[in-house]
Amino acid sequence: MTLIGAETFIWDDANKRNNVMWKLPRNVKLNDNIVVREDEIAVFYRDGKALAYLDRPDRYALTSQNAPILGNLIHFLSGVRQWAEVYYLQKRAFDAKFGSKQPYPFRDPEFGMVNLRVFGEFRYKVKDPANFINQFVGALNAHTAQEVEERTKEQMVIVVYDSLGKMKEKGMGVADLAANLTTIEQVVLERCKDHFELYGLSIEKISGLYINMPEEVQKAVDTRSSMTILGTSYMQYQAGQAMRDAAQQPGGAAGGAVGAGVGVGAGFGMGYMMVDAMRQQPPSTVATVAPAQNIALKACIACGMQIPADASFCPKCGKPQTPPGKLCAKCGAQVPVDALFCPKCGTKMGGGVCAGCGAQLAPDARFCPKCGRAAGQ
Ligand SMILES: [Zn+2]
Ligand SMILES: [Zn+2]
Ligand SMILES: [Zn+2]
Repeated sequence: MTLIGAETFIWDDANKRNNVMWKLPRNVKLNDNIVVREDEIAVFYRDGKALAYLDRPDRYALTSQNAPILGNLIHFLSGVRQWAEVYYLQKRAFDAKFGSKQPYPFRDPEFGMVNLRVFGEFRYKVKDPANFINQFVGALNAHTAQEVEERTKEQMVIVVYDSLGKMKEKGMGVADLAANLTTIEQVVLERCKDHFELYGLSIEKISGLYINMPEEVQKAVDTRSSMTILGTSYMQYQAGQAMRDAAQQPGGAAGGAVGAGVGVGAGFGMGYMMVDAMRQQPPSTVATVAPAQNIALKACIACGMQIPADASFCPKCGKPQTPPGKLCAKCGAQVPVDALFCPKCGTKMGGGVCAGCGAQLAPDARFCPKCGRAAGQ
């Protein structure tokens, strides 16, 4: 039986799919019909309060005949004002993305005040229709799914910021954020329980958390974390970076003096050690040299110990005292014969290596003395 002017309301699938809530386009009156399906709840709402909830699937005719089933609702609809707003809510979970509009100022002991922005995804569902309607419709004045979702995202950002604040109190700094995203997600999820209960929502999952910070802070953090991973000091780290940069330059020579110098310096060090290994004599054969008053002394080039001026090897560390090499024309440093650059000041040492036969070229050589190829080709 359908009465004139009465209407049947159903949340059609096209509208329903991605919406957690739907408000009926007009207020319902006595004799209207409300269809509630398995996965939805209908909430009758008036004057800032929920009058009734229908969450069992059925087609409900709002007539006085149904008073035994609908109870108070019929009482309200047949009273002085015979209408109610109706909101449909979905029971299933929804996925949403959140992202902060305003940066969160995070005071870090090491980096000072850092503006963070957070992004991520979460899965939520309506857990308590009464709280949901009271908060979103009553307190926050949200009437569409879009408004609900906006508010939910805002609340999520607040919980993430709140969680970061709590973790900061326990000693977490910006440099620790990237390595602890999963932990932060867990903390946020835990804090969501209390926070979203008020809104009638349960947060099922937090994922894909991303915390953005200003680029210069990110760089400093990357530098620091690389050092931590390698267990090196900052100086060592910088030297390593310079070597890596030098190695990446074509031919190793195109870059600035610093990069080239460090690069060759590293090569020098390794070559030197190899020379040592080949030339080093057992300390016992030279340890018998007893420094006497009348013997001229010099400092070992490696360990600094006073050793006879004519010693070829240090009796203490075994380092050869006259390393094969040439002198840098600019700074006077000892440079290995095959070094192309002074490891100390970066000055170019010679003509390099012949591209044809690999022979060492003199600094002023225009042609290879061995194969005749023009230098620099
Ligand atoms: Zn020595
Ligand atoms: Zn030099
Ligand atoms: Zn040659």
